Amino acid sequence: SHSPTENSYRIEPVGYIRSPYRQKFAIPRQPGLVKSAIGTLELVAPYNHPDCLRGIEEFSHLWLSFVFHETADKGWKPLVRPPRLGGNARKGVFATRATFRPNALGLSVVELVDVQLQPTPRLIVRGLDLLDGTPIVDIKPYLPYADAITDARGGFADDRPTTDMRIEFSAAAEASLTRAHHVPHLRQLICEVLGQDPRPGYQREQNWDKEYGMHLYEFNIKWRVQEQTSTVISISVD
Ligand code: SAM
Repeated sequence: SHSPTENSYRIEPVGYIRSPYRQKFAIPRQPGLVKSAIGTLELVAPYNHPDCLRGIEEFSHLWLSFVFHETADKGWKPLVRPPRLGGNARKGVFATRATFRPNALGLSVVELVDVQLQPTPRLIVRGLDLLDGTPIVDIKPYLPYADAITDARGGFADDRPTTDMRIEFSAAAEASLTRAHHVPHLRQLICEVLGQDPRPGYQREQNWDKEYGMHLYEFNIKWRVQEQTSTVISISVD
C-alpha cells in the first residue's frame, strides 16, 4: 500500500498569468475561442532563468498546466453537469473539463506570441481561458505530430460552441472605447467575449432585458441581450 506522503507530490507555480479576465463569469470555456484574449505569463524564481526558455520561440503554441486557484478549495464530485448539456445531464468528472476536479489542475493550449527576457522573463500568449493571477505549474511546447489528432471524437463536446449573437455599442460605450485607446483591441475583445454568449444556459431562454456585467482589464462593462443582439450599454473605469 502507498502511504499518503509517498504518493503526494509537491508542485509550485513556475509563473503567474496576467489576463484581461478579472472574474470567472464571461471567461470562455476553452482556450482559442476568444483569440483577442492576450495575456502575459510572468515566470518566478527559480524558473525565471532565461535558460529555461531557450528555444521556446520556435514553437507557435504551448500547453499550460495550471491550478484552478479560485475554486481549488471547493473540492470535487464524481459526477458533474457540463454547461454544454444544459445543466441537466451528468457526466463523470474525468469525462469533462470541469474546474472542480481532484487536484484542481487545468490544461490549456495557447498561442505563443512573443518571448521577452527583459525586464524579467515572460511569455506573451493569446487565446487564454484563464483568470488573472492563475498559477501556472508547467509549460510544454505543443507538438503538432503528437498533439493534433484530426480524426479524434469529441464526445458530448464534439463541435466548437457557436452563437449568432450580434454585438452593438451604445453611443456612451463608443465614446468610452475612444477614450480607451491604450487598449486598442478592447472592442474586438468585447465582441468576441459577448459573441460566446456568456449568460448561463437557463437565462438564454428568458429575455428579461436583464443587465449583465463583467470586468475586462480595468473596465467595467455592462450589456443587455435582446433576441440575438447584445448591446453594450456602458464601459467605465472604477
Ligand atoms: N482549458 C482548461 C481545461 O480544460 O482544463 C480550462 C477549462 S475550464 C471549463 C474553463 C473555465 O475555468 C473558465 O471559463 C473559467 O470560468 C474557469 N477558470 C479559469 N481560470 C480559473 C482559475 N484560476 N480558477 C478557477 N476557475 C478558473
